[in-house]
Amino acid sequence: MTQTIETDVVVIGGGIAGLWLFNTLNQQGYKVLLLENATLGGGQTIKSQGIVHGGTKYTLTGTLTKSAECIAGMPDRWRRALRGEGEVDLSGAAILSQSQYLWSPGDVGSRLTTFFASKALRGRVEQLKKTADFPDIFRHEGFRGKVYQLNEIVLDIRTVIKALVNGLKERILKVDWSENTRIVTEGKKIAFIEHIVGGKTFHIKARKFVTAAGEGTEDLMTLWGLSQPEMQRRPLHMVMVRHRHPEPLFAHCLGTKPVPRMTVTSHPDGEDHWVWYLGGEIAEDGMKRTPEEQIRVARSELAALLPWVNLDDAQWATLFVNRAEPRQTKLLRPDAAFIHDVENGIVSWPTKLALAPNLSDEVIKVLNRQELSPSGNQGFVLPEDVQHPDICEPFWSGAFSDHD
Ligand SMILES: Cc1cc2nc3c(=O)[nH]c(=O)nc-3n(C[C@H](O)[C@H](O)[C@H](O)COP(=O)(O)OP(=O)(O)OC[C@H]3O[C@@H](n4cnc5c(N)ncnc54)[C@H](O)[C@@H]3O)c2cc1C
Repeated sequence: MTQTIETDVVVIGGGIAGLWLFNTLNQQGYKVLLLENATLGGGQTIKSQGIVHGGTKYTLTGTLTKSAECIAGMPDRWRRALRGEGEVDLSGAAILSQSQYLWSPGDVGSRLTTFFASKALRGRVEQLKKTADFPDIFRHEGFRGKVYQLNEIVLDIRTVIKALVNGLKERILKVDWSENTRIVTEGKKIAFIEHIVGGKTFHIKARKFVTAAGEGTEDLMTLWGLSQPEMQRRPLHMVMVRHRHPEPLFAHCLGTKPVPRMTVTSHPDGEDHWVWYLGGEIAEDGMKRTPEEQIRVARSELAALLPWVNLDDAQWATLFVNRAEPRQTKLLRPDAAFIHDVENGIVSWPTKLALAPNLSDEVIKVLNRQELSPSGNQGFVLPEDVQHPDICEPFWSGAFSDHD
Protein backbone atom coordinates (compact mmCIF):
# COMPACT_ATOMS: atom_id res chain seq x y z
CA MET A 1 0.00 0.00 0.00
CA THR A 2 1.32 3.44 -0.88
CA GLN A 3 0.72 6.40 1.37
CA THR A 4 1.29 9.97 0.17
CA ILE A 5 2.85 12.55 2.47
CA GLU A 6 1.91 16.01 1.21
CA THR A 7 4.16 18.88 2.29
CA ASP A 8 4.89 22.46 1.30
CA VAL A 9 8.66 22.09 1.44
CA VAL A 10 11.09 19.21 1.77
CA VAL A 11 14.55 20.15 3.03
CA ILE A 12 17.28 17.59 2.33
CA GLY A 13 20.21 17.75 4.75
CA GLY A 14 20.20 18.47 8.48
CA GLY A 15 23.30 20.61 8.98
CA ILE A 16 23.11 24.22 10.11
CA ALA A 17 21.69 25.41 6.78
CA GLY A 18 18.94 22.80 6.55
CA LEU A 19 18.03 23.02 10.22
CA TRP A 20 17.88 26.82 10.39
CA LEU A 21 15.66 26.87 7.31
CA PHE A 22 13.53 23.96 8.54
CA ASN A 23 12.99 25.61 11.92
CA THR A 24 12.19 29.01 10.39
CA LEU A 25 9.69 27.55 7.91
CA ASN A 26 8.05 25.65 10.73
CA GLN A 27 7.62 28.90 12.71
CA GLN A 28 5.99 30.44 9.65
CA GLY A 29 3.41 27.65 9.35
CA TYR A 30 4.91 25.76 6.42
CA LYS A 31 4.32 22.02 6.34
CA VAL A 32 7.98 21.08 6.09
CA LEU A 33 9.80 17.78 6.24
CA LEU A 34 13.55 17.39 6.75
CA LEU A 35 15.42 14.37 5.33
CA GLU A 36 18.81 13.40 6.81
CA ASN A 37 20.92 10.39 5.82
CA ALA A 38 23.33 10.34 8.79
CA THR A 39 23.23 12.39 12.01
CA LEU A 40 21.85 15.90 12.51
CA GLY A 41 24.68 18.41 12.45
CA GLY A 42 27.27 15.68 11.88
CA GLY A 43 28.75 17.11 8.64
CA GLN A 44 30.79 20.29 8.40
CA THR A 45 28.58 21.92 11.02
CA ILE A 46 29.86 20.02 14.08
CA LYS A 47 33.40 20.07 12.63
CA SER A 48 33.32 23.86 12.28
CA GLN A 49 34.95 26.12 14.84
CA GLY A 50 31.58 27.60 15.78
CA ILE A 51 32.61 31.22 15.21
CA VAL A 52 29.81 33.54 14.15
CA HIS A 53 32.01 35.67 11.92
CA GLY A 54 31.20 39.32 11.55
CA GLY A 55 33.50 39.61 8.55
CA THR A 56 36.68 40.83 10.21
CA LYS A 57 38.69 37.84 9.09
CA TYR A 58 37.58 38.51 5.54
CA THR A 59 38.90 42.06 5.56
CA LEU A 60 42.46 41.06 6.36
CA THR A 61 43.48 42.41 2.98
CA GLY A 62 42.22 45.81 4.09
CA THR A 63 39.42 45.99 1.53
CA LEU A 64 35.71 45.78 2.04
CA THR A 65 34.67 42.69 0.14
CA LYS A 66 31.09 41.70 -0.60
CA SER A 67 31.58 38.83 1.81
CA ALA A 68 32.50 41.18 4.63
CA GLU A 69 29.48 43.34 3.88
CA CYS A 70 26.94 40.52 3.82
CA ILE A 71 28.26 38.80 6.90
CA ALA A 72 28.48 41.94 9.02
CA GLY A 73 24.84 41.69 10.12
CA MET A 74 25.09 38.03 11.14
CA PRO A 75 26.42 38.29 14.73
CA ASP A 76 23.46 40.48 15.78
CA ARG A 77 21.06 38.12 14.09
CA TRP A 78 22.49 35.17 16.00
CA ARG A 79 22.59 37.09 19.28
CA ARG A 80 18.86 37.84 18.95
CA ALA A 81 18.17 34.15 18.33
CA LEU A 82 20.32 33.24 21.35
CA ARG A 83 18.26 35.61 23.53
CA GLY A 84 15.12 33.88 22.26
CA GLU A 85 14.09 36.97 20.28
CA GLY A 86 14.92 35.87 16.74
CA GLU A 87 13.15 33.94 14.03
CA VAL A 88 14.50 30.74 15.59
CA ASP A 89 14.78 30.17 19.33
CA LEU A 90 18.35 29.39 20.34
CA SER A 91 17.88 30.37 23.99
CA GLY A 92 18.75 26.80 24.96
CA ALA A 93 22.11 26.91 23.14
CA ALA A 94 25.43 27.63 24.85
CA ILE A 95 27.89 30.38 23.98
CA LEU A 96 31.49 29.26 24.51
CA SER A 97 32.93 32.76 24.23
CA GLN A 98 31.34 36.19 23.88
CA SER A 99 34.24 37.25 21.64
CA GLN A 100 36.77 35.83 19.30
CA TYR A 101 40.09 37.70 19.68
CA LEU A 102 42.83 38.53 17.25
CA TRP A 103 46.42 38.61 18.31
CA SER A 104 49.58 39.71 16.57
CA PRO A 105 52.51 37.85 18.05
CA GLY A 106 55.41 39.75 16.52
CA ASP A 107 56.36 42.26 13.91
CA VAL A 108 53.45 42.25 11.49
CA GLY A 109 53.02 46.00 11.72
CA SER A 110 52.59 46.88 8.08
CA ARG A 111 49.77 44.46 7.47
CA LEU A 112 48.08 45.60 10.64
CA THR A 113 48.23 49.21 9.55
CA THR A 114 46.43 48.46 6.29
CA PHE A 115 44.09 46.16 8.08
CA PHE A 116 43.00 48.59 10.76
CA ALA A 117 42.93 51.53 8.39
CA SER A 118 40.07 49.76 6.64
CA LYS A 119 36.72 51.45 7.09
CA ALA A 120 35.22 47.98 7.10
CA LEU A 121 36.58 47.38 10.56
CA ARG A 122 35.18 50.38 12.34
CA GLY A 123 32.98 49.31 15.21
CA ARG A 124 33.84 45.67 14.75
CA VAL A 125 37.23 45.45 16.33
CA GLU A 126 38.75 47.03 19.40
CA GLN A 127 42.37 47.01 20.49
CA LEU A 128 42.70 46.05 24.12
CA LYS A 129 45.14 48.51 25.64
CA LYS A 130 45.30 47.23 29.21
CA THR A 131 46.62 43.79 30.06
CA ALA A 132 43.81 43.56 32.62
CA ASP A 133 41.33 43.50 29.73
CA PHE A 134 43.11 40.67 27.92
CA PRO A 135 41.60 37.19 28.05
CA ASP A 136 43.35 35.20 30.80
CA ILE A 137 45.52 33.21 28.42
CA PHE A 138 47.36 36.37 27.27
CA ARG A 139 47.84 37.88 30.76
CA HIS A 140 51.16 36.17 31.09
CA GLU A 141 54.46 38.00 31.51
CA GLY A 142 55.82 36.00 28.59
CA PHE A 143 53.22 37.42 26.22
CA ARG A 144 54.46 39.93 23.62
CA GLY A 145 52.14 41.40 21.06
CA LYS A 146 48.81 43.10 20.64
CA VAL A 147 45.33 41.80 21.33
CA TYR A 148 42.11 42.89 19.60
CA GLN A 149 38.57 41.98 20.50
CA LEU A 150 36.17 41.11 17.68
CA ASN A 151 32.40 41.21 17.65
CA GLU A 152 32.20 37.46 17.04
CA ILE A 153 30.69 34.93 19.41
CA VAL A 154 31.79 31.31 19.52
CA LEU A 155 29.07 28.70 19.93
CA ASP A 156 28.76 25.22 21.32
CA ILE A 157 27.42 23.83 18.06
CA ARG A 158 25.89 20.67 19.47
CA THR A 159 23.63 22.76 21.70
CA VAL A 160 22.66 24.88 18.68
CA ILE A 161 21.63 21.73 16.79
CA LYS A 162 19.61 20.53 19.78
CA ALA A 163 17.83 23.88 20.02
CA LEU A 164 16.93 23.87 16.32
CA VAL A 165 15.58 20.32 16.51
CA ASN A 166 13.67 20.94 19.76
CA GLY A 167 10.01 19.99 19.37
CA LEU A 168 10.40 19.14 15.67
CA LYS A 169 11.93 15.66 15.73
CA GLU A 170 8.65 14.13 14.53
CA ARG A 171 9.03 16.03 11.26
CA ILE A 172 12.55 14.76 10.56
CA LEU A 173 13.06 11.55 8.61
CA LYS A 174 16.13 9.33 8.44
CA VAL A 175 16.72 8.18 4.86
CA ASP A 176 19.16 5.88 3.09
CA TRP A 177 19.48 6.63 -0.62
CA SER A 178 21.16 3.30 -1.34
CA GLU A 179 18.50 1.24 0.44
CA ASN A 180 15.07 2.70 0.97
CA THR A 181 14.76 6.13 -0.63
CA ARG A 182 14.86 7.42 -4.21
CA ILE A 183 14.05 10.53 -6.17
CA VAL A 184 11.42 10.07 -8.84
CA THR A 185 11.62 12.74 -11.52
CA GLU A 186 9.43 14.00 -14.33
CA GLY A 187 11.84 15.71 -16.69
CA LYS A 188 13.97 17.96 -14.45
CA LYS A 189 11.22 18.22 -11.84
CA ILE A 190 11.12 16.08 -8.73
CA ALA A 191 7.76 14.29 -8.92
CA PHE A 192 8.14 12.77 -5.43
CA ILE A 193 10.59 11.04 -3.14
CA GLU A 194 9.82 7.39 -2.53
CA HIS A 195 10.63 6.05 0.93
CA ILE A 196 10.05 2.43 1.93
CA VAL A 197 10.06 1.38 5.57
CA GLY A 198 8.49 -1.51 7.52
CA GLY A 199 6.99 -2.90 4.31
CA LYS A 200 5.17 0.38 3.63
CA THR A 201 5.79 2.74 0.73
CA PHE A 202 5.56 6.49 1.16
CA HIS A 203 5.50 9.04 -1.64
CA ILE A 204 6.74 12.37 -0.30
CA LYS A 205 5.46 15.29 -2.31
CA ALA A 206 6.38 18.96 -1.97
CA ARG A 207 5.85 22.24 -3.75
CA LYS A 208 9.57 22.94 -3.30
CA PHE A 209 12.51 20.60 -2.60
CA VAL A 210 15.54 22.32 -1.08
CA THR A 211 18.93 20.60 -1.00
CA ALA A 212 21.10 21.69 1.94
CA ALA A 213 23.25 18.57 2.06
CA GLY A 214 26.72 20.18 2.21
CA GLU A 215 29.24 17.90 0.56
CA GLY A 216 26.43 15.39 -0.15
CA THR A 217 24.74 17.86 -2.49
CA GLU A 218 26.82 16.73 -5.45
CA ASP A 219 25.55 13.12 -5.23
CA LEU A 220 22.05 14.33 -4.58
CA MET A 221 22.14 16.41 -7.74
CA THR A 222 23.20 13.31 -9.67
CA LEU A 223 20.18 11.44 -8.29
CA TRP A 224 18.02 14.37 -9.35
CA GLY A 225 19.67 14.55 -12.80
CA LEU A 226 21.15 18.04 -12.43
CA SER A 227 24.63 18.98 -13.60
CA GLN A 228 24.54 22.63 -12.45
CA PRO A 229 25.50 24.35 -10.21
CA GLU A 230 28.92 22.80 -9.68
CA MET A 231 30.38 22.24 -6.24
CA GLN A 232 33.92 22.76 -4.94
CA ARG A 233 35.67 21.27 -1.94
CA ARG A 234 38.28 23.14 0.09
CA PRO A 235 40.13 20.51 2.10
CA LEU A 236 41.40 21.19 5.60
CA HIS A 237 43.57 19.25 8.02
CA MET A 238 42.49 20.42 11.47
CA VAL A 239 44.33 19.71 14.72
CA MET A 240 42.75 18.79 18.07
CA VAL A 241 44.65 19.14 21.36
CA ARG A 242 43.07 17.80 24.54
CA HIS A 243 44.77 19.07 27.69
CA ARG A 244 44.37 20.39 31.21
CA HIS A 245 45.72 23.90 30.79
CA PRO A 246 42.98 25.87 32.57
CA GLU A 247 42.55 28.78 30.17
CA PRO A 248 40.64 28.54 26.93
CA LEU A 249 41.85 30.26 23.78
CA PHE A 250 39.51 31.86 21.28
CA ALA A 251 41.65 33.77 18.82
CA HIS A 252 42.96 34.25 15.31
CA CYS A 253 46.72 34.61 15.25
CA LEU A 254 47.71 37.14 12.62
CA GLY A 255 50.43 35.99 10.24
CA THR A 256 51.78 37.37 7.01
CA LYS A 257 48.91 36.20 4.77
CA PRO A 258 45.24 37.19 4.56
CA VAL A 259 44.35 33.85 6.19
CA PRO A 260 45.11 33.77 9.94
CA ARG A 261 48.31 31.86 10.74
CA MET A 262 46.21 29.88 13.17
CA THR A 263 42.62 30.12 14.40
CA VAL A 264 42.02 28.50 17.77
CA THR A 265 38.74 27.74 19.51
CA SER A 266 38.30 25.83 22.77
CA HIS A 267 35.65 23.22 23.56
CA PRO A 268 34.97 21.71 27.02
CA ASP A 269 34.87 17.90 26.87
CA GLY A 270 32.80 17.60 30.05
CA GLU A 271 35.69 15.92 31.87
CA ASP A 272 37.74 18.92 32.99
CA HIS A 273 39.71 19.10 29.75
CA TRP A 274 39.67 21.61 26.96
CA VAL A 275 39.87 20.46 23.39
CA TRP A 276 41.68 23.20 21.51
CA TYR A 277 40.74 23.12 17.83
CA LEU A 278 43.28 24.56 15.39
CA GLY A 279 42.37 25.86 11.95
CA GLY A 280 43.47 28.68 9.64
CA GLU A 281 46.65 28.58 7.57
CA ILE A 282 47.98 25.56 9.46
CA ALA A 283 44.90 23.54 8.39
CA GLU A 284 45.06 24.70 4.76
CA ASP A 285 48.79 24.01 4.41
CA GLY A 286 48.38 20.84 6.46
CA MET A 287 46.72 19.02 3.58
CA LYS A 288 50.22 18.18 2.32
CA ARG A 289 51.16 16.62 5.67
CA THR A 290 50.49 13.28 7.30
CA PRO A 291 48.72 13.43 10.69
CA GLU A 292 52.09 12.87 12.44
CA GLU A 293 53.73 15.73 10.52
CA GLN A 294 50.74 17.96 11.12
CA ILE A 295 50.87 17.31 14.87
CA ARG A 296 54.61 18.07 14.87
CA VAL A 297 53.99 21.42 13.15
CA ALA A 298 51.11 22.26 15.50
CA ARG A 299 53.22 21.46 18.57
CA SER A 300 56.02 23.70 17.44
CA GLU A 301 53.63 26.53 16.44
CA LEU A 302 51.95 26.49 19.87
CA ALA A 303 55.33 26.27 21.62
CA ALA A 304 56.55 29.31 19.66
CA LEU A 305 53.37 31.36 20.05
CA LEU A 306 52.36 30.47 23.63
CA PRO A 307 55.57 29.22 25.29
CA TRP A 308 54.11 29.54 28.80
CA VAL A 309 51.35 27.00 28.07
CA ASN A 310 52.46 23.57 29.16
CA LEU A 311 51.14 20.93 26.78
CA ASP A 312 53.45 18.11 27.91
CA ASP A 313 50.53 15.88 28.87
CA ALA A 314 48.31 16.87 25.97
CA GLN A 315 46.71 14.38 23.59
CA TRP A 316 46.89 15.22 19.91
CA ALA A 317 44.79 14.19 16.94
CA THR A 318 43.94 15.54 13.52
CA LEU A 319 40.84 15.66 11.37
CA PHE A 320 40.58 15.84 7.58
CA VAL A 321 37.44 17.68 6.52
CA ASN A 322 36.24 19.46 3.38
CA ARG A 323 34.40 22.72 3.13
CA ALA A 324 31.73 22.30 0.44
CA GLU A 325 30.70 25.33 -1.55
CA PRO A 326 29.53 26.37 -5.02
CA ARG A 327 32.42 26.35 -7.47
CA GLN A 328 34.42 29.59 -7.68
CA THR A 329 37.24 30.47 -9.99
CA LYS A 330 40.65 29.64 -8.46
CA LEU A 331 38.99 28.07 -5.40
CA LEU A 332 38.21 31.53 -4.04
CA ARG A 333 35.91 31.84 -1.06
CA PRO A 334 32.30 32.51 -1.98
CA ASP A 335 30.80 35.82 -0.94
CA ALA A 336 27.52 34.96 0.72
CA ALA A 337 25.02 32.14 1.11
CA PHE A 338 24.37 30.56 -2.27
CA ILE A 339 21.05 29.43 -3.66
CA HIS A 340 20.14 28.26 -7.15
CA ASP A 341 16.45 28.04 -8.01
CA VAL A 342 15.83 25.26 -10.51
CA GLU A 343 12.44 23.80 -11.54
CA ASN A 344 10.60 22.83 -8.33
CA GLY A 345 13.75 22.83 -6.25
CA ILE A 346 16.55 24.95 -4.80
CA VAL A 347 20.18 23.90 -4.52
CA SER A 348 21.92 25.68 -1.63
CA TRP A 349 25.13 26.05 0.35
CA PRO A 350 25.48 28.55 3.22
CA THR A 351 29.28 28.68 2.62
CA LYS A 352 29.69 29.59 6.30
CA LEU A 353 27.90 28.55 9.44
CA ALA A 354 27.39 32.21 10.28
CA LEU A 355 25.45 32.69 7.04
CA ALA A 356 22.69 30.15 7.78
CA PRO A 357 20.17 32.98 8.46
CA ASN A 358 21.15 34.57 5.15
CA LEU A 359 20.50 31.29 3.31
CA SER A 360 17.12 30.99 4.97
CA ASP A 361 16.20 34.58 3.93
CA GLU A 362 17.13 33.86 0.32
CA VAL A 363 15.06 30.64 0.17
CA ILE A 364 12.05 32.38 1.72
CA LYS A 365 12.37 35.20 -0.84
CA VAL A 366 12.01 32.58 -3.60
CA LEU A 367 9.00 30.98 -1.90
CA ASN A 368 7.33 34.39 -1.57
CA ARG A 369 8.16 35.36 -5.15
CA GLN A 370 6.62 32.11 -6.37
CA GLU A 371 3.63 32.60 -4.06
CA LEU A 372 4.25 29.35 -2.23
CA SER A 373 2.55 30.33 1.00
CA PRO A 374 2.36 28.18 4.14
CA SER A 375 -0.55 25.75 4.19
CA GLY A 376 -0.49 25.34 7.98
CA ASN A 377 1.38 22.67 9.91
CA GLN A 378 -0.63 22.09 13.07
CA GLY A 379 -0.66 18.41 13.87
CA PHE A 380 1.72 17.52 11.03
CA VAL A 381 3.66 14.43 12.14
CA LEU A 382 5.19 11.55 10.24
CA PRO A 383 3.67 8.06 10.33
CA GLU A 384 4.81 5.95 13.30
CA ASP A 385 6.86 3.42 11.31
CA VAL A 386 9.51 5.87 10.12
CA GLN A 387 12.92 6.43 11.70
CA HIS A 388 14.28 9.70 13.02
CA PRO A 389 18.03 10.54 12.89
CA ASP A 390 20.11 11.15 16.02
CA ILE A 391 21.92 14.34 16.89
CA CYS A 392 25.65 14.17 16.15
CA GLU A 393 28.43 13.57 18.69
CA PRO A 394 31.17 16.18 19.35
CA PHE A 395 33.76 16.54 16.58
CA TRP A 396 36.52 14.91 18.67
CA SER A 397 34.41 11.85 19.45
CA GLY A 398 36.62 8.78 19.02
CA ALA A 399 39.73 10.84 18.21
CA PHE A 400 41.64 10.40 21.48
CA SER A 401 42.43 6.83 22.39
CA ASP A 402 41.44 6.82 26.09
CA HIS A 403 38.37 8.95 25.44
CA ASP A 404 34.68 8.14 24.66
C1 LIG B 1 36.98 22.84 9.79
C2 LIG B 1 35.90 23.82 9.48
C3 LIG B 1 35.75 24.93 10.30
C4 LIG B 1 34.75 25.88 10.02
N1 LIG B 1 34.59 26.91 10.88
C5 LIG B 1 33.60 27.80 10.65
C6 LIG B 1 33.37 28.85 11.59
O1 LIG B 1 34.01 28.94 12.63
N2 LIG B 1 32.38 29.74 11.29
C7 LIG B 1 31.63 29.64 10.15
O2 LIG B 1 30.78 30.51 9.93
N3 LIG B 1 31.80 28.63 9.27
C8 LIG B 1 32.75 27.70 9.50
N4 LIG B 1 32.93 26.65 8.65
C9 LIG B 1 32.01 26.49 7.50
C10 LIG B 1 30.72 25.83 8.01
O3 LIG B 1 31.00 24.75 8.85
C11 LIG B 1 29.88 25.34 6.85
O4 LIG B 1 29.73 26.37 5.88
C12 LIG B 1 28.48 24.93 7.32
O5 LIG B 1 28.53 24.13 8.47
C13 LIG B 1 27.79 24.18 6.22
O6 LIG B 1 26.55 23.78 6.67
P1 LIG B 1 25.62 22.85 5.81
O7 LIG B 1 24.37 22.67 6.60
O8 LIG B 1 25.52 23.36 4.43
O9 LIG B 1 26.44 21.50 5.63
P2 LIG B 1 26.74 20.29 6.61
O10 LIG B 1 26.97 20.73 7.99
O11 LIG B 1 27.82 19.50 5.97
O12 LIG B 1 25.38 19.50 6.63
C14 LIG B 1 24.92 18.74 5.56
C15 LIG B 1 24.00 17.67 6.13
O13 LIG B 1 23.40 16.98 5.05
C16 LIG B 1 23.46 15.59 5.29
N5 LIG B 1 23.44 14.94 3.99
C17 LIG B 1 24.45 14.79 3.10
N6 LIG B 1 24.01 14.16 2.00
C18 LIG B 1 22.70 13.90 2.21
C19 LIG B 1 21.71 13.24 1.45
N7 LIG B 1 21.97 12.73 0.24
N8 LIG B 1 20.47 13.12 1.98
C20 LIG B 1 20.17 13.63 3.20
N9 LIG B 1 21.08 14.25 3.97
C21 LIG B 1 22.32 14.38 3.47
C22 LIG B 1 24.75 15.39 6.05
O14 LIG B 1 24.74 14.19 6.78
C23 LIG B 1 24.75 16.62 6.96
O15 LIG B 1 24.04 16.40 8.15
C24 LIG B 1 33.91 25.69 8.91
C25 LIG B 1 34.05 24.57 8.10
C26 LIG B 1 35.03 23.64 8.38
C27 LIG B 1 35.13 22.42 7.52
